[in-house]
Amino acid sequence: MSNGVKQTGALKLPAAPSVELGNGQHELWTGEYYNEGVAGHGGLFDKLNEECGVFGVYGHPDASSLCYYGLHALQHRGQESAGICTTDGEKFNYYRGMGLAKEVFNNETLPPLTGSSAIAHVRYSTAGESKLANAQPLVFKYREGELAIATNGNLDNANIIKRELERKGSIFQTTSDTEVLAHLIARSEHDDILDAVKDALKQVIGGFAFLIMTNDKLIAALDPNGLRPLMMGRLGDAYLFASESCAFDAVGGTYLRDVQPGEILVLDRDGFHEDRFAESGKRSICAMEYIYFARPDSDIDAINIHSARKRMGKRLAMESFVDADVVTGVPDSSISAAIGYAEQTGIPYELGLIKNRYTGRTFIQPSQELREQGVKMKLSAVRKVVEGKRVVMIDDSIVRGTTSLRIVNLLREAGATEVHVRISSPPFMNPCYYGIDTPSRKELIAAMNSVEEIRKAINADSLHFLTQEGLLDSIGTGSAGDQSGYCMACFNNNYPTEIVDTGKVGCACD
Ligand code: SF4
Repeated sequence: MSNGVKQTGALKLPAAPSVELGNGQHELWTGEYYNEGVAGHGGLFDKLNEECGVFGVYGHPDASSLCYYGLHALQHRGQESAGICTTDGEKFNYYRGMGLAKEVFNNETLPPLTGSSAIAHVRYSTAGESKLANAQPLVFKYREGELAIATNGNLDNANIIKRELERKGSIFQTTSDTEVLAHLIARSEHDDILDAVKDALKQVIGGFAFLIMTNDKLIAALDPNGLRPLMMGRLGDAYLFASESCAFDAVGGTYLRDVQPGEILVLDRDGFHEDRFAESGKRSICAMEYIYFARPDSDIDAINIHSARKRMGKRLAMESFVDADVVTGVPDSSISAAIGYAEQTGIPYELGLIKNRYTGRTFIQPSQELREQGVKMKLSAVRKVVEGKRVVMIDDSIVRGTTSLRIVNLLREAGATEVHVRISSPPFMNPCYYGIDTPSRKELIAAMNSVEEIRKAINADSLHFLTQEGLLDSIGTGSAGDQSGYCMACFNNNYPTEIVDTGKVGCACD
């Protein structure tokens, strides 16, 4: 590509990395931007942020278009940046930009991404400074050629490894954990790329799903506990990888299987190879994927997300029935649980809250007053539905409590006579070290307050959180049967891995 679109910024590793990540990079908006009613980070809606979504294609002539549609389907996992890297077997073509996939890719930026293999990435939404340098896939040069990496998750010991490598002379060009993995691959004693990747993966701790591409290989790897979702699909003769199965549906592909904990799957000219870089630890899929992050039409480990959420709602009704006139769910992620609660109790489900689907990014800075009212940009109460009614309001989680208070007040202002809040997860009390952006413990309302104190703080008539047992029963057992297990650390402080760096929360992209 010669129209200024091509990003020539491959990092060279390890001896003398050249920083070119910002060189020639395109972005739609380089100043500050604000998310209108969107989650987290100064956005107006107090929710947890999923960190990233990954998509990969091996052996399809239209790999970049498939990635584009795959990213569309995964857009809920990240709205800050999008990127695709393709290879025709000889060279990489790649493009990354700030914004949604549909903003970054168009008739000019997509066609030059030729080749039959590709990896792609969407990154989560933040407000504030542009972070194009953290947009993925990241592309590196190493002694055997080029390497592209797309990640979902977090390497808990990245800072420790980074300090050690820096002492040995490595120079880092980004703040991304992904670069740590690239340095480890480049420094490996093994010339064979697969051995080098395995060598690198053995040294990192955390929850991560990697897609790694060279000019002749596509490699998928999942952490030894299987914390983050990563699955494999087919489209004709081509192979697909994605964070969620809804991305396979979006491109007409079919789900094949989930990548297993500690597994490394390789596609190259010799076909498909299954290997491992680690023994499988206790399988611990992130329970929040089922509660909130994943799309309802996705299956993770053979469990459909909508169905699991509906069971959570039913269980919530069994644990905490309250006599009321209508049940409503906070859209979108709580609607399935609200339907389940209504089905179980016989109280009618109604659309008491409507989401404004057209909020997005703006460069108009909201005033403090507007920020305070931010939830109104995102949600409206349907007066005719809730006026004079006793309302059961189902939500999937309470993080700081500020959004719950605003939504309860929205319903009261619209005339609800009682608002009973039911949460389809246990109290969120601990930070996540596996790639989910969470506030510090002292900002988590459930870490600092009793249920009764939270009830008062959010102005609810009653409040109940789903129990841990209720949650586990609702999710059920996945394809691994009795071996299926879930990370519940943000509820019970029981982290499935050793936490070596308690300051290292957030995403591998940061
Ligand atoms: S700590 Fe919570 S958010 Fe993080 S992986 Fe575990 S269940 Fe998911």
